[in-house]
Amino acid sequence: VAPPPPAAAPTAAAGREITATRVYVNLATPDAATAVAAGDVDGVGLLRAEFMITTALDGLHPAKLLAQGRRDEYVAKMADGVAAIAAAFGDRPVVYRAIDLRSNEFAALDGGEVEPDEDNPMIGYRGCFRYVREPELFRLDLDVLHTVRAQHPNVHLMIPFVRTKWELAQCLALLDEHPLGADSAMKRWIMAEVPSAAYWIPEYARLGIDGVSIGSNDLTQLVLGVDRDSETCKDLFNTMDPAVLDTIDTIIDRATAAGLTTSLCGQAVSIYPELAEHLVRRGITSVSVTPDVAERTRHNVAVAEKAILLDAARRG
Ligand code: PEP
Ligand code: MG
Repeated sequence: VAPPPPAAAPTAAAGREITATRVYVNLATPDAATAVAAGDVDGVGLLRAEFMITTALDGLHPAKLLAQGRRDEYVAKMADGVAAIAAAFGDRPVVYRAIDLRSNEFAALDGGEVEPDEDNPMIGYRGCFRYVREPELFRLDLDVLHTVRAQHPNVHLMIPFVRTKWELAQCLALLDEHPLGADSAMKRWIMAEVPSAAYWIPEYARLGIDGVSIGSNDLTQLVLGVDRDSETCKDLFNTMDPAVLDTIDTIIDRATAAGLTTSLCGQAVSIYPELAEHLVRRGITSVSVTPDVAERTRHNVAVAEKAILLDAARRG
């Protein structure tokens, strides 16, 4: 009789910590998707597709690409990239953020001279407001998602840099006019990265969104009034500043009260491990981090959840 095979070596899965708070990753391209998806991650909380977009555009400004009649080619290329990521994550969600290039970044593309010349592009012609002004641009994103969701319904839409209820309402109307608008299984996320979100969340919820993801990079910049890219002022840029934390808390509280899913996808949780506990205590649904710190974040979240349970048990 042959000896029994040796016990299987413990797999990564055996040592995995289970948490109620989901741990997502931020991704930008399909290259690493399979390797990242093999790790202990619950999905992609922020697909920053801007890099894929500029590649798919062949260095052309979208206006020039459209003028050349190459729309279908662009949509197909983008859809292939997003589909590769969606396939790697199986049924785990992948949240695709609509194009959030700023006017200075668009201006650097071939044909970019059509862009407005702005002194402060970071708070200029970008995000949700831009889609409302240029529905053709937004429809590129919608066509990409519509194509991908036919095969991969785990991909969802996130609208960045929402500043007011009026622009979000108009942007959602554009979505509703598109075939993707009838796809009620697709989650509608918005990014809360302008401080006005703390005020507007209940109204945003009434417009029919599903989730709010805090973009702590832009939010920190705008709460503290410090340019996120300034080397000179970098000592001031601190998401752990109480003013920023208070804004984050308000956004989470109001979103939770409105029945929305909440997340934070800026760099902050990757940089400040203690922020994970703060967010978990506040009741956030998920955090999204760079892949290199996903495992550590899972651990920090697990420790925080256990501490919360112990606190509750002691009080009981
Ligand atoms: C953010 O602002 O925190 C964010 C995640 O978006 P980006 O860094 O791409 O502006
Ligand atoms: Mg941002």
